[in-house]
Amino acid sequence: MKKTNIVLFGPPGAGKGTQSKFLTERYGLEHLSTGDLLRAEIHAETPLGLQARELMSAGELVPDEIVVGMIKNLLEESPDAKGFIFDGFPRTRAQAEALDATLEKIGSDITLMLALEVEEEELVKRLLGRGATSGRPDDKSEEVVRKRIREYEEKTAPLKDYYNAQGKLRKINGVGSIAEITARLTTAIDG
Ligand code: ADP
Repeated sequence: MKKTNIVLFGPPGAGKGTQSKFLTERYGLEHLSTGDLLRAEIHAETPLGLQARELMSAGELVPDEIVVGMIKNLLEESPDAKGFIFDGFPRTRAQAEALDATLEKIGSDITLMLALEVEEEELVKRLLGRGATSGRPDDKSEEVVRKRIREYEEKTAPLKDYYNAQGKLRKINGVGSIAEITARLTTAIDG
């Protein structure tokens, strides 16, 4: 059966992690979050984690080779998955091209990109609010939060054009209750 592969897209603080949980359960998909994978490397104090920690705490992206390597490994380890929710990946054009090439090798492709849209001041409010309780160092400083949003706008947001050119982009209003946003996402997937 053809896999369902969804890129859950949007700026930092758009709610990708929260919504991924609902979508993976509802559709029986695997959740692949490069942010979670990198935080696990940091926690385990691996060499990769040490390298990633500096960049992440400065609000910068980690190198493409690192995240592409992690995603390739996981895709190879789960040949029987019904599909994947990609959360926080791809974040650059090189990552998107590597993902397409990897999926093509296993006879698959991206089904849809669901792009959550939330304006900057709301994102800053959400991230700093999360930082007060989450223990994520990159959510604690307004300067780092705004740097992440700049990185998103510069390097990541252009991927909407990349997927739009393939007819796969669906823009989703990311402001509202968690349940309302889940409903908007499932409507886009089911439609
Ligand atoms: P958020 O989207 O809320 O910023 P993430 O957990 O997705 O949270 O990402 C946290 C940080 O991890 C990013 O700011 C970046 O430094 C790093 N990171 C995560 N995914 C990627 C990726 N695909 N490419 C490069 N860096 C990444």
